[in-house]
Amino acid sequence: MRAKASMLIRTIKAPLTSLKGIGPAQVPKFANLGIATVGDLLRHYPRDWEDRSAIVPLAEFGRAQVNTEVTVIASDWIGRSGGKFGRQRAILKIYVEDESARAALVCFNRPWLEKQLEVGRRFFLWGKFEYRYGDIQSSDFDIRPAESENRMEGIFPIYPLTEGLGQKNLHQAVGFALQKYANDIENELPGELITRYGLLQKSDAVKAIHFPESRERLELAKKTLVYEEFFWHQLTLKKSRARKKADTLRQSSACGSGLSPLQQRLIERLPFRLTAGQLDAVAAINGDMADTDFPMSRLLQGDVGSGKTLVSFMAALFIAEKGAQAALMAPTELLARQHAENAASLLEPLGLRIAYLTGNVKAEGRKELLQHLAAGEIDVVVGTHALFSKNVVYKNLKLAVIDEQHRFGVNQRSMIMEKGESPHLLMMSATPIPRTLEMTAFGDMDVSRILDMPPGRKEVKTHLAKGSESENRVYDFVRQRLGEGRQAYFVYPLIENSEETFSDLKDAVSMKEKLAKKVFPRFTVALVHSRLDEEERRRIMESFRAGEIKVLVATTVVEVGVDVPNASCMVIAHAERFGLSALHQLRGRVGRGTEQAYCFLIYSDRLTDEGKDKLKVMRETCDGFKIAEADLRLRGPGQITGTEQSGHIGFTIADPVLDIGILEKARGDAAAIYENDPDFALEDHRIIARVFREAPPFPAAVV
Ligand code: ADP
Ligand code: MG
Repeated sequence: MRAKASMLIRTIKAPLTSLKGIGPAQVPKFANLGIATVGDLLRHYPRDWEDRSAIVPLAEFGRAQVNTEVTVIASDWIGRSGGKFGRQRAILKIYVEDESARAALVCFNRPWLEKQLEVGRRFFLWGKFEYRYGDIQSSDFDIRPAESENRMEGIFPIYPLTEGLGQKNLHQAVGFALQKYANDIENELPGELITRYGLLQKSDAVKAIHFPESRERLELAKKTLVYEEFFWHQLTLKKSRARKKADTLRQSSACGSGLSPLQQRLIERLPFRLTAGQLDAVAAINGDMADTDFPMSRLLQGDVGSGKTLVSFMAALFIAEKGAQAALMAPTELLARQHAENAASLLEPLGLRIAYLTGNVKAEGRKELLQHLAAGEIDVVVGTHALFSKNVVYKNLKLAVIDEQHRFGVNQRSMIMEKGESPHLLMMSATPIPRTLEMTAFGDMDVSRILDMPPGRKEVKTHLAKGSESENRVYDFVRQRLGEGRQAYFVYPLIENSEETFSDLKDAVSMKEKLAKKVFPRFTVALVHSRLDEEERRRIMESFRAGEIKVLVATTVVEVGVDVPNASCMVIAHAERFGLSALHQLRGRVGRGTEQAYCFLIYSDRLTDEGKDKLKVMRETCDGFKIAEADLRLRGPGQITGTEQSGHIGFTIADPVLDIGILEKARGDAAAIYENDPDFALEDHRIIARVFREAPPFPAAVV
C-alpha cells in the first residue's frame, strides 16, 4: 500500500510555492505559461527533447550539437577594463579541449564563469558550435563539472518558456514536482486498454515524458499520453453528442412541421423551390436552435452553387423571429457586400432590419451602425471579420454564421463566442474537410451536407487550351456567347506586371486594355482587383450583376462566393498556377443559372507534371469532393489546410494529423466503451466515471 492517496494529475492542486526553489516572485511568471498548480506544472510537457546520450566530440561540431568531456586550458578577457560600456560589456573567452579539438566558449556577462571554469578542471560540455574568427566557438552551451552527479548524458526536455523562466528553472521545478508527486499519479485509462496497447502506467509516462531514460521509453510515454488524450477527447465528444441528440429528439417532436412563419413566408416569395438538401439542412438547424440550453454547432457543407446562402438566411429568420440578432461573416468585402444585398432584397420585405459592416465602413456611418447594433435595432448584420472586432457590441447576438469557413483562421471561433451568450454557430464551406479534422477540430460539430444542386443546373463544360495556340479560338467562342446576351469572367494570376515583378505572365491590367480595345470592342469590359477601393469594386460588381458590364477581368478576388447567374463563361489564364481548390471555386462562378456554362483553362507552353495533373482533374470532374481529394493527394498531407485549426481544442501533446493512427484507435475504443457501458459502471470503467466527476480533461464547452 502506498502511504499517500493516489491522485488524478489535475487534482494535484498544491501551489507552486510548495516546491523547493519557487518563491512568490516566480508565481506570475509560471502563470504566464498557464501554470498555477503543481498539477499544471507536471502537465507542462516538453515541446521537444535533446538527445545528449551520444558523445559528439568537438571536432564534429558541424554535424550535430557537441556533447563531450573537456578540460579547461585557458581563459581570457576581451575588453575587460575600459571601453565606454565598462565591465558590463566584457566578454570572457574560455578555451577548452577534448581529444579531438580545441574550442572557445564565449561568455557574455557571466563573469563568474571565470572562477568556475578553473584552468585544468574537467567538465561535461554540451552546446552548439560554429567556426568563427579562426576558432570553433560557442556562446550557446551548457557546462557542468565532470565529477558532479548531474551528468549530461541522457535525453533532456526542452520546455516552452516565458520571460524570466529559463530551461534550467523549469528542469528544476519539474524535477522537484516529480520527486514529490510522480508516484502518486493515477491512471486515467481503464486497465484493459493499458494492457492491450502495452502503454505505460500514467505515473511512469509522466516521469518519462519529462526525463526519459531512453528514446524507446520516451516514445512509449508519448504514445501513452497521446492515446489517453485522444481517448478522453473522443469520449467527451460522444457523451456530449449523445446528450444533444436526446434533447433534439425531445424538441423536434414538440415543434411539429419545422418551418417558422417567417421562413414559410420567405419560401413562398422565392421564384424557385428549395432543394431537398436545403430543406433538410434548415430542419436540422431549426432543431438545433430550438434547444435553448445547448448552442448549435453545425457545419454546413455543400458544393459551390448548392445554395448555402439561402440556408443561412433561413437560420437568420428563425433567430430574428425570436427577437435576437444574427451575424453573417464572409471572408472578403466583395462577398460580404453581395450577401448584404441579397439579405436586403430577401429579408427586408419580411420586416427585418439589415446592416452591412466591414473595416471600410467609416466614421459617422459606422458610429451610428454600432449604436443601432448595441440597441438591438438591427436584426441581421452582414460583414467581414470586422463584425467581431473589439468595439462591436451586440444587444443580443444569438446566431453567428461563418461563410467559407476554411478561409478564416483559428481564432474566429473564440472571438465570436465572446460576443454573445454562446451564440449558435453555423459554419459553411464548399471545401470538404479531411477526416482528421472532422474527427477533432470539427468532431463536436454536427454536419449537414447538401448533396443535390438546384434543378436545371448543367455541369460546366471544361476545356483545356494551350495559351499560344488557342487563345483566339477561346476569344471567338466567348464573343459568340456575349452576342447571345451572356457574360464572361477572365481571370489572371497577377494584377499588374511591373519592373520588379516582371515576368512573362499575363496580368489583369494590361489584359483588360487588350480585351476592351482589340478583342471585344463592342462590349463593355471592366477590371476588378484587390487594389481598387471598396466603393469602386462595389460599383463594378453591381453593374456586372446588372448586366451593364459584359466582361469582367479579375484576379482571384472573384474566387469565393460571387454569384452572377447570367455569367456563363469563365476563362482562367495560366491556370496551372492556381491551386485546385481555387480553380474549383473560380469555375463555380459560372453555371449558376440554367444556361449551359463553359470554363476554359488556358495553360502555359511550359507545363510541369504537377500542373498537368491538376488540369486533368479539373477536366475530369466538377465534383468538389473529388477535387478536394485529388488536392490532398497532389499536395501531400503535410499541407492539409487547417491543421492548425485543431489548436483551439487544447490538446497538450496529441497531434491529430501526425498521430492519426492512434486517434482512430482511441476513437473506436471510446465509442465501444460508451455504447456498452454508458454509465461506466463496470469495475474497469469506474475510473472513467471518476475522471468525469473530479477532473474532466475536456470541459464540454471546449470540445
Ligand atoms: P453556395 O452554396 O456556393 O454559397 P449560393 O448560395 O451562392 O451557393 O447559391 C447559388 C445560386 O443558386 C444563387 O444564385 C441562388 O440564388 C441560387 N439558388 C439557391 N437555392 C436555389 C434553389 N433551390 N433553386 C434554384 N436556385 C437556387
Ligand atoms: Mg457561398
